[in-house]
Amino acid sequence: MSLIVQKFGGSSVKDSEHLFNVAKIVTDKYKEGNDVVVVVSAQGDTTDDLIEKAQEINGNKSASKREMDMLLAAGEQISISLLAMAIQKLGCPSVSLLGWQAGFKTTSAHTSARIRKVDTLRIKKELDSRKIVVVAGFQGLSRYDDVTTLGRGGSDTSAVAIAAAMHADLCQIYTDVEGVYTADPRKVSGAIKLPEISYDEMLELATLGAQVLNNRSVEMAKKYNIELEVLSSLTKKPGTIVKEKPKMEKMLISGVAKDTNVTRISVTCIPDKPGLAFKMFSKLSARDINVDIILQSIGRNNTKDITFTVPKDKGTEAVEIVKNFADSIGAGEVIYDDNIAKVSIVGAGMETHAGVASKMFEALYDRQINIQMISTSEIKVSVLIDKRDADLAVEAIHDKFFPDND
Ligand code: ADP
Ligand code: ASP
Ligand code: MG
Repeated sequence: MSLIVQKFGGSSVKDSEHLFNVAKIVTDKYKEGNDVVVVVSAQGDTTDDLIEKAQEINGNKSASKREMDMLLAAGEQISISLLAMAIQKLGCPSVSLLGWQAGFKTTSAHTSARIRKVDTLRIKKELDSRKIVVVAGFQGLSRYDDVTTLGRGGSDTSAVAIAAAMHADLCQIYTDVEGVYTADPRKVSGAIKLPEISYDEMLELATLGAQVLNNRSVEMAKKYNIELEVLSSLTKKPGTIVKEKPKMEKMLISGVAKDTNVTRISVTCIPDKPGLAFKMFSKLSARDINVDIILQSIGRNNTKDITFTVPKDKGTEAVEIVKNFADSIGAGEVIYDDNIAKVSIVGAGMETHAGVASKMFEALYDRQINIQMISTSEIKVSVLIDKRDADLAVEAIHDKFFPDND
C-alpha cells in the first residue's frame, strides 16, 4: 500500500462532469489499496471572479489583504466539498478539509503567505479510517488564527507540502496539458512534451513564466527531494517527471518561457558616487520588492543611469519609492514602462555549450525584434522586449532550437 498525493487544478474541476472525472481517477487509486490525499484548486475561473468582486467594492484602491484572503479561500471551499460528494457518490468514503483543518500553518503575509509547517495529525486520522482526504489547496492559517493564502497558483505548493510532510510515495500534479513542454503548448504548436526535467531547470522555467507549476512548489520539491509527475486529468498518457537528475542526456535547452508580469523602471542622472545603488535597492527590498534584471550605464558628466525590472503588480509602489529617492539625491527623471515582456530560454546544456545566447539573439534578429535588456545565469538567458513582440519571439526562438517540430 502506498500513500499518494494528487493535485487537480481549476480547469480539472471546473464543473460536475470534470469533478466526476477527477473522482474516478482518485477512487481508482484508492481501490488499488492506496491511501489517497487529494489537493484541489478553486473551480475554473472562480479565483479571478472573486478578485473582480473585490474590485467592484474597492475600485482602484487596494483591498485589505486580510479580507482578500478570507474571500479567495472561499473558492477552494466550494471545490473540496463538491469533490468529496462526487467521490462518495462513486461509493468511496471521503472527507473534505479546509487548509487550517488539514494543519497548514503559514506566515502571516496575507495573499503571499509561506507554509511554515503542516501538522498532519488530522489527515492521518482520516486516512486511518480509510477515507479519501480532499484538502483545499492555496490556504492556511497564520499564528494569529487568520486565514491566509499562498499567492496565485499556490495549490501546487500545498500538494508538495503534504507529500513532504507525510513522506508520500508519489506526488502527481494533474492539469489541463499532458506535462511540461518546451514552450506553452497552447501558444506554440511545435512544443514538445518532456519526459523528464531536473528541479533546477523546472524552477527556472516556472519562475520565468511557465505557469504549469508554481515555482515555490518546485523549490519545495527540490528541498525535500519529492519526485513530481505532471500529467493531464483528461488523457491517460504519461506526463513529465520532475526530479533531481533526469536519466536523459542534458538537452541544450529544455524550454522557452514568457513573462509579461514585468515593469521596467529607469532612473536617469544619478550622481556617480559610491553607495547610491545600494541605498536605492535596499529601499525596494525593505518593502519586499524583488528586483530582477539590472543595467547600469557607464558614467558621463559625473552621472549615470540605472534601469531595472520589478513584477508589474509592484510597479506603482516601486516607482513611488524610487521617485522619492531620486528627489532626495538630486537625480533626474524616473521613467517606467510596463508594455514589456521577458522571454527566456532555460537549459542545463548551456553550462557546457557556447553559442546558445547568440543563437537566441539571432532568432530575434531574424524577426527584427529589438532587445532592450539581457540577463544570463548558468542555465538561462533572458531578454526584455516589447510586449507586442513576445509571442512572435517565443515562436522564433523555439523554431531556432527545435527546428523539426513545426
Ligand atoms: P492548473 O489550473 O491545473 O493549475 P495552470 O493554468 O496553472 O493549470 O497551468 C497549466 C497551463 O500552463 C497550461 O494550460 C499551459 O497553457 C501553461 N503553460 C505555460 N508554459 C507551459 C509549459 N512549458 N508546459 C506546459 N504548460 C505550460
Ligand atoms: N485558486 C488559486 C489560483 O487561482 C490557487 C491555484 O489555483 O493554485 O491562483
Ligand atoms: Mg496552476
